Amino acid sequence: MLNSFGLSAQTPVIDTYEVTGSDIDALIASLNKNGSAGGLGRTNHRWSLSYTLSEKNGRHTVSEVLVEHSVSIDMPTWADYRNAPPCLQSSWDAMYLNLQKHENKHVELGKGVSEKLEHGLLSIPAQSSREALNKIVKVTVAEIHRENRAVQSKFDSETDHGRDAGNNTVVLEEC
Ligand SMILES: [Zn+2]
Repeated sequence: MLNSFGLSAQTPVIDTYEVTGSDIDALIASLNKNGSAGGLGRTNHRWSLSYTLSEKNGRHTVSEVLVEHSVSIDMPTWADYRNAPPCLQSSWDAMYLNLQKHENKHVELGKGVSEKLEHGLLSIPAQSSREALNKIVKVTVAEIHRENRAVQSKFDSETDHGRDAGNNTVVLEEC
């Protein structure tokens, strides 16, 4: 089975969920039942932030921003692959490859977020109180995450979670 995501900067952890079925109808039913609500795969980005709030002459600023980014991708694994007819195996392989491409795009789309968080926090002007600074930090972080979610959702609505993706449709074809 194909399992290479070929990403250099951020290596995603692959989490699998199992599907079963030795004919296409059973397999599709199992994918629909066990897959995530939106699609057959799911990319999960996590950013954890640490930073220092400093004060000098009544001016409060953010410094030492550290962003850690991790990614995991939920992918199906087909228990009955080995015993299935070759043409159904080929359909699965094609679907799987296109699902990888789709999820890789979600990974790509999240790549600039760490820099945005770092830059966003370091660009906050000095504030007269720690409370004021904290508020702006929260708003800044929330806005960057909101933007990322919007970008990710846009990609899913444009491609119908990969089902409508030109020559790369995430669909198990009849054979
Ligand atoms: Zn998607």
